Amino acid sequence: MSGSDEGTILVVVAHPDDECIGAGGTIKRHVDQGVNVDVHCMTGNDERNAELQRACEILGVRNLYLSERDDFAIGLELTNEVVGAILKSRPNFIITHHSSDYNRNHQQCATIVSQAAEWASHVTIFDDAHRVERIYNMEINTMISRPNVHVDITASYPTALAALKKHKSQVKKADSYYEQLYDARTRLRGVQANCERAEAFSITLPEHAGPFYEKNSVESLF
Ligand SMILES: [Zn+2]
Repeated sequence: MSGSDEGTILVVVAHPDDECIGAGGTIKRHVDQGVNVDVHCMTGNDERNAELQRACEILGVRNLYLSERDDFAIGLELTNEVVGAILKSRPNFIITHHSSDYNRNHQQCATIVSQAAEWASHVTIFDDAHRVERIYNMEINTMISRPNVHVDITASYPTALAALKKHKSQVKKADSYYEQLYDARTRLRGVQANCERAEAFSITLPEHAGPFYEKNSVESLF
């Protein structure tokens, strides 16, 4: 695994294509800044995993962790798998779904990631425990009502769109619905963020003051 001083982001998604629709521009922008970006996908089959692989190549993703699982087969039993991805990837941040997403699988994914980030940091369980600093929750169909941050993706949008189009089995659905959604949503977020195009996120801070952590005390609140 190649390392980078610029840090690592792990993107955990429910389905192939969520990484592009929710955070394609943000992934590409950070890869261009020298950040390692890994993607873990909870579901997939031969066709959709091949599409995901092509999309991630375009975005410059470092490691892709694939699954063979039905779209709806997402439950809390997947927590250990995500812990494994965290311990392998050792990310500073995780990008995942938002708990208020209308899609139940996306909600479950957000809950699983939040629990996995907690467990992965317990030094009492793992010799190689790893503490994630922040979780960025992205939007797919359901817009986040009060996002914490907008990432300017003006420059990376064309590449992100090219990656999204690699999900051929999905983008052909409903008169290119997902392409239209990504176009319109990133443009709207751009208007709000005073740039051409943006992706919005809310931030979840993992609990960092529990009894199982190595670095429990801070010198300053600043
Ligand atoms: Zn999805």
